[in-house]
Amino acid sequence: MVKRLTILGSTGSIGLSTLDVARRHPDRYHVVALTANMQVERMFNQCKEFLPDIAVMRDEVAAEKLSTLITQERLKTRVLSGEGGLVEVASNENVDFVMAAIVGAAGLQPTLAAARAGKRVLLANKESLVMSGKLFMDEVQSSGAELLPIDSEHNAIFQCMPAGFHAGLENVGVEKILLTASGGPFRSRPTSELVDVTPEQACAHPNWDMGRKISVDSATMMNKGLEVIEACWLFNTLPDRIQVVLHPQSVIHSMVQYTDGSVLAQLGNPDMRTPIAHAMAWPDRIKSGVEPLDMFAVKQLDFEPPDFERFPCLRLAIEAAAAGETAPTVLNAANEIAVGAFLERRIRFTDIAGVISSVMDSVPMPPASSIETILAVDAESRTAAERMVSLTAKKVS
Ligand code: NAD
Ligand code: MG
Repeated sequence: MVKRLTILGSTGSIGLSTLDVARRHPDRYHVVALTANMQVERMFNQCKEFLPDIAVMRDEVAAEKLSTLITQERLKTRVLSGEGGLVEVASNENVDFVMAAIVGAAGLQPTLAAARAGKRVLLANKESLVMSGKLFMDEVQSSGAELLPIDSEHNAIFQCMPAGFHAGLENVGVEKILLTASGGPFRSRPTSELVDVTPEQACAHPNWDMGRKISVDSATMMNKGLEVIEACWLFNTLPDRIQVVLHPQSVIHSMVQYTDGSVLAQLGNPDMRTPIAHAMAWPDRIKSGVEPLDMFAVKQLDFEPPDFERFPCLRLAIEAAAAGETAPTVLNAANEIAVGAFLERRIRFTDIAGVISSVMDSVPMPPASSIETILAVDAESRTAAERMVSLTAKKVS
C-alpha cells in the first residue's frame, strides 16, 4: 500500500532528508503536501519534482509568488498559505503520514492537528512536545494516532525499548534511559573563550548538519535539555530515569539500561535519514541511502558525564522538566527568543542562559490545563524574553 505523506517544513534540513528517503521509494510513498515558511524557490523546485497536490507557504507574500510560478509552469499543485493551510494539510483526509519538521513553536498547531486527526506523526519538531507534552500525548491517545520519534536519540531509544513500554518503564524491566549527546562544538573549549563565540562557530556542529536554531541549541546543550523533556513524554517517565551521557563520536544514538544489567544501544552513522527511514517504514526496514557503519574506522567510543557549569542551559531544562506543567513552555519560548537574538548578534552566546533563567524566574507558570493557557504562557514568556534581550543588548553595546 502506498503511504500518502505530508511534510511540514519540507525546505529545511529534516524536510530535505525526508524527501531524499521518499525519492528512493516511489513505490511506497506519495507526497501529498509540502510546506515551508518563505523559501519560494526551493519549494517551487520541490513541487516540480514531487508534484504534490498542495503546497503551503506560511508567509502570504511567498504564497503569492509561488502561486505565480506554479501557474506559469502549469502544475496542478494548489497553493495555500498561513497557519490554516498548515493545519489543513496536517489533518487532510487523503494523508496517512505527517512528517512534523517545522522548527520551533510555529510547529505546534499543525503537529497537534496531525495528532488529533489520528495520523502517523513522525515527530522531529520536539518544541511542540516540550511546549504541550500532556495535551499532545492525550490527543495521540484519544485519536489513536501513531507517534514515531525522528530525533535520532529518541528513535534509538524507541528501537531499544521492549513492547509495552507505554505502561511505564518500571513494568517492563527498564531501569534507565541513557541519552547520548555529542557535547556540540564547544565541549572542550575553555569556558572563558565562550563569550566571543560567533553564530557561525556555534552553527558548525562537529558531527551533524542541521538547521541554525537546533545547531545553537546543540552548542548550548539546550537541545539535550529539550530532549530530556521530549523523552519523558514519549517514554512515559520522569527526568530522574534519564541520564545524559556525553559521547563525542555520535555513533551510539542512545541506550536503554535494563534491570538485569543489559544495556541495548542503537548505532549508526550520524545521518538523519536513518531515523527518518526507520519511522517511515516501521515496522519494516527500507534503504535510507546512509553508508553502513564502519566499526574499524570508528575505532573508539568515548563517554563523559555532562558538565552543568559549562552548559547552564542543560541544567535549566532539567529543572523545568522536574517542575513540569508550563515550566517547559516558558523555557522553550525564552530559548527561542534568546537563540534568535544571538543569531542576530544582539546578545552574546553566554547571555543565552541568563535570558532564559531570568524569564523562568519572572513569568508565572500555571498548570498546563488547555492549549489556550499554553499559548498565553508562550506569548508572555516571549515578551519577557524580548525585554530581557533588550536590557542585555544595551549592556553588550
Ligand atoms: P530548518 O531550519 O532547517 O528547517 C525548518 C523548516 O521549518 C523549514 O522548512 C522552514 O521553512 C519551516 N519554518 C520555519 N519557520 C516557520 C514558520 N514560522 N512557520 C512555518 N514553517 C516554518 O530546521 P531543521 O534542522 O530541519 O529542524 C526542524 C525540526 O526538527 C526542529 O524542531 C529540530 O529541533 C528538529 N530536529 C532536527 C534535526 C536535524 O538534524 N536537523 C535533528 C533532530 C531534530
Ligand atoms: Mg537529537
